[in-house]
Amino acid sequence: MLRFQLISGRVKNISWNEGRRVVELEVLAEQLFCNKCNTPLHLKDIVGEMRYGLGSLLEVVCQICSGMKLISTGKRNEKGAFDINSKVALAMMHSGMGPDHVVNFLSTCNIPPPDPKTLKKKEKSIALSLMDEASDSCKTASAEEKAISLSLSDELECSFDAGWQTRGSGWQYNSNTGHSSLVGVKTGKVLDYDVRSKLCSICQHHLGRKETVPNHPCNSNWQGSSKGMEPDMALSMVTRMDNRGCTVGIIHADNDSATSSRLKQNFANIKKKETTKTMSRKICRNNCMQQQISTKS
Ligand SMILES: [Zn+2]
Ligand SMILES: [Zn+2]
Repeated sequence: MLRFQLISGRVKNISWNEGRRVVELEVLAEQLFCNKCNTPLHLKDIVGEMRYGLGSLLEVVCQICSGMKLISTGKRNEKGAFDINSKVALAMMHSGMGPDHVVNFLSTCNIPPPDPKTLKKKEKSIALSLMDEASDSCKTASAEEKAISLSLSDELECSFDAGWQTRGSGWQYNSNTGHSSLVGVKTGKVLDYDVRSKLCSICQHHLGRKETVPNHPCNSNWQGSSKGMEPDMALSMVTRMDNRGCTVGIIHADNDSATSSRLKQNFANIKKKETTKTMSRKICRNNCMQQQISTKS
C-alpha cells in the first residue's frame, strides 16, 4: 500500500519526522547555525516543515537564544523555487514516466510526492529548453560525424528509423503520432530527429466544445496517413542535414520504397542501403561507447 495517499491531488499534511526527504547534504549542513548567536543548530530541534514539491523549508529552533531559522533542504533559484522540482520533471521525461508514475514511485519510497498537476506544468515549462538543447546536440553531433567521415575520405553515412506510438501492421497504420531519428554510423550519435502528430490537445479541447480555436503553439503538424509520416520525416531530416552543410551520402533504412523514392526525388545522389544486423550492432556499439564516455566526463 502507498505510504502517502493523495487527497484531491495533494498529499495530506504530514509531520517533518514522517517518511523520507530528498536532501542536498552540503546545502543543509552549511545552514545549520543560528543567525543571531552563531550556535550550531540541530535537526532534532525542527519544529515545523513547509513542503514545496520535493523541497522543504525546515523551521529549526536555537537551543541557546530560542531564535527560529528557516533551513532549506536544497538549492533554490533566484525566484526561490527548489531545483529538485525541475530535476524530477526532467528525470520523469528522461526515463519515459508520466506524472502518475512519479507519484507512485515516490510514495512507495516513502517520500511525500509532488502534485501530478505541478509535475505536468514543470514538464511543459522545461520542454522548450530541452528541445533547444536537443537541437544543439544534433548540430554538434552532425559536425563531428562529418569531420570523421572527411578524415577517412568516406561519405557521411547514417541510419534512419521511424516508429509510431501505436503498433502498425503491414496493411494498417493508424497511429496519431510518429517519430524518427537519424543516427551517425561513425559516432553512434543522433544527428537529427523528427515528430509528426495528427492531433493537438488544445485544438481538440476547443473543437470538442464547438468553439473557435484561439492562437496557440499547435502540436498538430500532420494531416495525411500514418504511414505517410515516415518518408516525410526522412526527407525533412536529410534536408536539414544538407542545409547545415552535412550532406548525407549513404542512408541505411529498412525496405520502405516510399521513403527511398521520396529521398531520391530530392537527393538524386543519395545511396540507400538496407539496414543489416551487423550495421545495427555497429551503431549500437558506437552508441554504448559514446554513452560510457559521456557518463565518465
Ligand atoms: Zn541562537
Ligand atoms: Zn492545436
